[in-house]
Amino acid sequence: MATSGSRVLRGVAASPGIAVGKVYILELEELHIKEKNLTPEEVGPELTRFKAALATTRDEIEQVKDTIRQELGSEQAKVFDAHMQILDDVVAVEETVRVIREERKNAEFAYRRTLSKIAEEFDALEEEHFRSTAADVRDVKRRVIRHLLGKPRRSGADISGQVVLVAHDLTPSEAAFLTHDTVLGIATDSGGRTSHAAIMARARGIPAVVGLKYATLHVKQNDTLAVDGNRGLVEVHPDDQALTDYERRRIQYRELEGALQHIRELPAVTPDGRQIELSANIEMPEEAQLALDRGARGVGLFRTEFFYMKSARLPSEEEQYEAYRKVAELMHPYPVIIRTVDVGGDKFASYLGTERENNPFLGWRGIRFSLERTEIFKIQLRAIFRAATVGNVKLMFPMISSLDELRQANEICREVKDELRSKRVPFGDNCEVGIMAETPAAVFIADSLAREADFFSIGTNDLIQYTLAVDRGNEKIAHLYEPLHPAILRSIRTLVDTGHKHDIWVGVCGEMCGDPAGAVILLGLGLDEFSTSPYLLPEIKTIVRSVTYAEASELAQRALCLSTAAEVRRFVEEKIASRFPQIALP
Ligand code: PEP
Ligand code: MG
Repeated sequence: MATSGSRVLRGVAASPGIAVGKVYILELEELHIKEKNLTPEEVGPELTRFKAALATTRDEIEQVKDTIRQELGSEQAKVFDAHMQILDDVVAVEETVRVIREERKNAEFAYRRTLSKIAEEFDALEEEHFRSTAADVRDVKRRVIRHLLGKPRRSGADISGQVVLVAHDLTPSEAAFLTHDTVLGIATDSGGRTSHAAIMARARGIPAVVGLKYATLHVKQNDTLAVDGNRGLVEVHPDDQALTDYERRRIQYRELEGALQHIRELPAVTPDGRQIELSANIEMPEEAQLALDRGARGVGLFRTEFFYMKSARLPSEEEQYEAYRKVAELMHPYPVIIRTVDVGGDKFASYLGTERENNPFLGWRGIRFSLERTEIFKIQLRAIFRAATVGNVKLMFPMISSLDELRQANEICREVKDELRSKRVPFGDNCEVGIMAETPAAVFIADSLAREADFFSIGTNDLIQYTLAVDRGNEKIAHLYEPLHPAILRSIRTLVDTGHKHDIWVGVCGEMCGDPAGAVILLGLGLDEFSTSPYLLPEIKTIVRSVTYAEASELAQRALCLSTAAEVRRFVEEKIASRFPQIALP
């Protein structure tokens, strides 16, 4: 919790671990370029100078690529192949040469104008994939211009001691040079879990939070900043108590990491014998192994948006089938719950027809999209049902807010299965089909939904935003986003009790179960399954193994009688501190 004077910012947990240190803001180095008019005699030498800068940049990119390949593997080095292609792009080079030759402008001016225009064209396309290409173009542009200006030093080279690096964005070139020796943690305004900075931070074990939107606005050089790469938040100016907590959690995280091998094999069972299914949330097939390594006994939420957002074309049935099959095989016999695509909200892609809307979170999102674009929905369902032949695959629908939606979706599942049957394509006929319970409507009609769904997986991230009317991404009202609000606890209790009354299991796949206080309450409310970030699993498993179900239930019952979120939090934190001091609180 933020205290007076401190400020907590939420972003995306990109690389696990806790770091506290002095801020170093990596400013985008100003490269001052003057527009110069050349005399006819100067054109030839200017062209030579431009070509020399391209050659030097080529060598430099080659070198960085080699270093990254050796250190982190060829997959991570691929981004520099893309940089090489941008550098050698015939159109870009020819246009720059034309500006130098015909407009008689200096090389840095000509190259900057040409590449900036290309980057802007990519920016105008809404897909994430193209925005990252725009960033790559700018990265290459800066490299070449630095050579033209004779400024080969990259920014950040003057870092001394160990710092927490804060930047609007980190280019692949900058990220490539981050090391443990100087960088304790990373916080960036932009980027997602798959951005280059995130990948490189993970590969090097540097805690990182990305996608903070306004970190660079809220911190100054040398401020103290805590980075919680497990939960995706940073705290500016933490007070002494918070610093002590971060330090304790940093040490505990290290210890858990050290004991990971041991914890991984232990069951998630309370001292009085209540078993919790502990699963992981993943977004990419590659994360399934990480989930297993960190002790997951299944994938409780496989977000599939990545397939649709990574490029500007629809993922084919085969492509999806292969990915789902791989994960299902790897996890077998543990379950893999695949969520059908949840585009819309903050994830739009113009090629899918999901445009920016006035109220995107109340808009054309999740199941609403799939029920309208049934041709896209059916391709995904076919891939999921086919993958269910090789593993324990379940599927669930996001954003269900009426029984009609569930019925329509179930009907489409029947049609898809009939088609597969008639074409003699093998598929898993007994695949469980559940819903994400993440709208207040789903809570109120839980009894109807429970009759026609095989399970509920509570999406607390959205349930909180919709129940409390607090935009989950709006930093201004982040203090109102309160998982322990009585309305949330009561909604969860309704979902659990109703689900159990109808003999279906109820899990949570929102971030609330990755928070120690949240996990204890959820345990006490009778949840059957927790699914959270792979990085949080050892900590959450330790909690489940430390608290008896009887005590957690009593705590949850008493919390349910309290009237405000602050009272609940105080009560839960005090109880945990006195009864289970071994459990760290954020
Ligand atoms: C949720 O809403 O809690 C959830 C897990 O789904 P997402 O975060 O993808 O909306
Ligand atoms: Mg959701």
